[in-house]
Amino acid sequence: MIAGMEDARNARSDERRDAAMTEKDRDTCALVETTDVLIIGAGPAGLWAMFEAGVIGLRCVALDALDRVGGQCTELYPDKPIYDIPAVPRCSAQDLVDRLLEQCAPFGFPIHLGQRADALERVGERWRVTSREGRIFDTAAVMIAAGNGAFEPQRVALPEAASLEGRSLHYAVRQAERFRGRRVLIAGGGDSALDWALALRGIATHITLLHRRANFRAAPATAAAVKAAEQAGQIDFVVGTLDALHETADVLTGARVKTLEGERELAFDELIALFGLVPDLGPIAGWPLDARAGRIPVDTSNYETALPGVFAIGDIALYDNKQKLILSAFHEGSLALRKAYAYAFPDRQRTHVHSSYDTALQKKLGQPTA
Ligand SMILES: Cc1cc2nc3c(=O)[nH]c(=O)nc-3n(C[C@H](O)[C@H](O)[C@H](O)COP(=O)(O)OP(=O)(O)OC[C@H]3O[C@@H](n4cnc5c(N)ncnc54)[C@H](O)[C@@H]3O)c2cc1C
Repeated sequence: MIAGMEDARNARSDERRDAAMTEKDRDTCALVETTDVLIIGAGPAGLWAMFEAGVIGLRCVALDALDRVGGQCTELYPDKPIYDIPAVPRCSAQDLVDRLLEQCAPFGFPIHLGQRADALERVGERWRVTSREGRIFDTAAVMIAAGNGAFEPQRVALPEAASLEGRSLHYAVRQAERFRGRRVLIAGGGDSALDWALALRGIATHITLLHRRANFRAAPATAAAVKAAEQAGQIDFVVGTLDALHETADVLTGARVKTLEGERELAFDELIALFGLVPDLGPIAGWPLDARAGRIPVDTSNYETALPGVFAIGDIALYDNKQKLILSAFHEGSLALRKAYAYAFPDRQRTHVHSSYDTALQKKLGQPTA
């Protein structure tokens, strides 16, 4: 692709977007990010779709509700080996994600993390997606690669928990320093809970780890380190479950805990609840896409949904004989992107050039041209 031609294409795309804008939109224009394809979800399906967007010459932006890319691979089984990726006899799930990121890196497309797509709106012939966090994306096509939904923390099931969230009740640790000089209760028995119990030693003034069983669901080495820290008096470990949270003048002061022996009071300033993540399709389930049990029906010739220019790929796509496999997600993304091209550039005919012969692509990828 000659640079001038690409500029002209982008200018035409911008013209179409501008025509679709209302006056109010123009006022908020600075807040709107414009692209050819918006990819919702940066799991394997979304990351591969980013690469394919770059290959066929589309601009692309991705977002993910989580604060890191990789979807299920990173969240659920990073260290497990995968054996069924073509031409890759064995790699860990995290390794696969790292390789996908490396593959799409030359295009420099932005990935907005910690952004959950909440609203979908038709604006002229384009789509507008708004995130829960307030970002607005104006796009010719939408690629829903949302897997089983956005992973959300499993919350404390007590009525008083909601009002404490974001103040003294935390579902993730963004900055360890936030807990300096505080008495902290960490609830949970998985890797995250144990890792943070260990990491906050020397930062928090007191750490109590609360888990419903004496055994942990964590890596044996981490569990052994926690037991050693308990014996050294660095961490208190309590077997039990939260029964009530106590507040005085809107300030968290402690909790009543149910243990095998009965009830017990614990005093602390901050509660970090790390019970794991649960997938939640959230507002996408309410988009007019005929979602069934959290999955979106598609046309298998191009993975388009019932809405023109809105595609569903990866685990979220629903069709006869669909297999929830990374291999299938790659195929679906490749076909969907080619149809998405027609929405971004309806007046252009795309000619396919194999990557082995595509010198323009090779340049974009920073490779010596063949
Ligand atoms: C334990 C385990 C082992 C597996 N082993 C294999 C294997 O060996 N081989 C194989 O092929 N497959 C395997 N799979 C399946 C494979 O991981 C999935 O098929 C694959 O992850 C699907 O990719 P995806 O991108 O469609 O969805 P996901 O990986 O689920 O990614 C979806 C992403 O979308 C984000 N998201 C969702 N909703 C929103 C929203 N509204 N806004 C913003 N972001 C959102 C999520 O946060 C998530 O990051 C395994 C799965 C598990 C659980």
